[in-house]
Parts: sequence; structure tokens; C-alpha cells
Amino acid sequence: MEGKKWACSHCGLPRGIGKGNVWHKNGVITASQPPHIRGTLYDVEELNNLFPAVSRRIGFDVTRLVIEGKRRDGVRYTRSLMENLRHAGLEPRAMDVFRMISRFCSYWGLGIAEILEYREGEILSVRTPAYYSDPMARGDWAGVFEAADGSRGDPRWRDESVKEIIDVVAVEGEPELEERIEQEVELGIPFTEEGDLEYRHCPSCGIPLAVSEQFEWNPEISLIRERISGRRFILHNTNGIVAVVRVLEKELGEEIGNIIAEISRDYARGYYGEIKDRTSMEAELMKFPLRSWGRATALRKEGDFFRIKIVNPYSGPIVAGRIWGLLEVFEGRELVLNKREEDEGYVYVHLKAI
Ligand SMILES: [Zn+2]
Repeated sequence: MEGKKWACSHCGLPRGIGKGNVWHKNGVITASQPPHIRGTLYDVEELNNLFPAVSRRIGFDVTRLVIEGKRRDGVRYTRSLMENLRHAGLEPRAMDVFRMISRFCSYWGLGIAEILEYREGEILSVRTPAYYSDPMARGDWAGVFEAADGSRGDPRWRDESVKEIIDVVAVEGEPELEERIEQEVELGIPFTEEGDLEYRHCPSCGIPLAVSEQFEWNPEISLIRERISGRRFILHNTNGIVAVVRVLEKELGEEIGNIIAEISRDYARGYYGEIKDRTSMEAELMKFPLRSWGRATALRKEGDFFRIKIVNPYSGPIVAGRIWGLLEVFEGRELVLNKREEDEGYVYVHLKAI
């Protein structure tokens, strides 16, 4: 680990991650600083599969909604960051904020983000060739620009065919859609304190040791890689993506929740199908809370019926779909989703073998 100034000398993960976040007993990760915004370790491929698949299934391109949800989330996050700096007696300049967020991007695996240019009230240009998601990265930077500069920004690729540089150009806003998303983001994600998870923590940086067992984490190249699958992950705010899902449900009806669960299930079947010989169902369920996906409890199996409760899912439909596909792979049979019941801080999934 020599030469890696950022690395914890004990577990090898970036020290800032262990210090900046708390893994709670209830299956949730939050920032350690107020307002303790929830974060999630996302499977990038799952995310990038989800929204295009939703668009195809419903015949309506949801890209704009995704950008809007992430923009609003970016504003909220950046404002709270600036607020914390002010409390510490610092008056952050816009450029300082951009550089700080750029550093976070490296640590969270969002892709190296180099600030190329900033002109107050006009434009912010960021080079980020290894972005984690096209609409989400654009939404993030529009939100950061808005919070730090004070202008609404339209995030565009300078060259659509290369997608290397995002230009956030100051524009007038579109209040109606914005207000809707805004409300959803402000609602946050309800979660319950229920939980008694005990982690073994790194004695030096405090992060659960299982995180370093499961992930390689290198901020120098802005990459978090899951060891077992080789897939790219990111650590990112939970709210923006959840707000998009909720707006979709409200705009397009509750059926959208089932569509999302089906898309997640298809993805999960492929994912667990690849790794199933090197792991077990129990081991995979244990990984959920470490990623802030919530905690799967009370798996009940009676004949052809399965029932499982997830406490604090980061998104009811997405996590329900994951569990569905996971059970199918490890049980070795096809299941139908009989019912998905959501409540504040819970989702119950009822499955039946066919
Ligand atoms: Zn450590």
C-alpha cells in the first residue's frame, strides 16, 4: 500500500470513505455529517440497464426525468456541503466547490472529473470520459453548478459522438416539472431504526471490513470494483434515483413499480447466474445492508410459496426485483411475483413457484 496516501493502512480502502460515512445497524449508509444524506453502493450496470429498459417498456423516454431527478439531488447535496463549510467558518467560492465535488467523484467511483472552465453565470465545463451514467452524470453537474453559481444549467455533451466533456450552460428553468421532482427529492426516503446488524469494523478508519473484502476501491482511477463479479460500483446519494422512480409511479401509475421490479429481476438473474458457483444465497443476502440496499429478513418458504421482508430498501421495486431474481437463481426455478407490499421503510415480496 506504499505510496497511496489516501489508503487506510489497515484495510486499504480510502480513509475518507470510512470517516465520511456511517454503516448503520438498520441496513442503511448515511453521510457522517449533517444532514446525514443516505448513500447507496450501486451496481453501475444495473442502473444503466434500468432507465433505458423502463423507456422501452413504457414507450416513453424517461431520460429527462432522470436528469431532473439527479439535478435536484445535486443541488440539495451541494447546498448542504456549502452550508457545512460555512459552519466551519469558510465562505466557499464556486470554483472551490467544483474542485471539492470533483474530488468526491474520484472517491465515489463516479469517474475522474476534471474542471476545465468556469465562467460565472455562464458555463461550467467538466471533462469526464469514464462517467458512470450519461443522464445521471449530466444531472449531477447541472445541480452542482446551480448550487454553487446560482444559475439553472442545461448539461450538454460538447460532442455527442465522443461524450467526454459536459458543458453546463446557464439557461432559464422549466418550473413545473422541476417543482414535482423537487418535492419528491425533499421527501427523502423513509427508514426505520429497526435493526441489530453487527459489523466488524476496521480499527483504523472504521469502515466495516466486509466492504474491503467485497470491493477494490481506487480513487486514483475513480474505480470501485466488486471482486466477485468484476463489475463497477459507485457510492452515490440515494435520493435522486428514488425520486425518479416515484415520479414515474405518479405520472404513469403504480404498474410502473411492477415493471421496474421485472427489469431488476431480469438483471439479477443474469448477475447471480454468473457468480452462483462461488457464493451462496445467504452470503448474497448478507451483502444487501453493506450496500445500503436494506436488510432482507424473515425468508419464509412454505411449499411453493416464498415470502421475504426487506427492511429499509433504498427503492422498493428495485430491491424486490433483485430478491426475486436472486431466489430464482439459487432455488433453481422460475417464480412469479404474487404481491409486492410497500410500507414506510419496508417492502414485502411474495413469490410463488410455477
Ligand atoms: Zn480501514
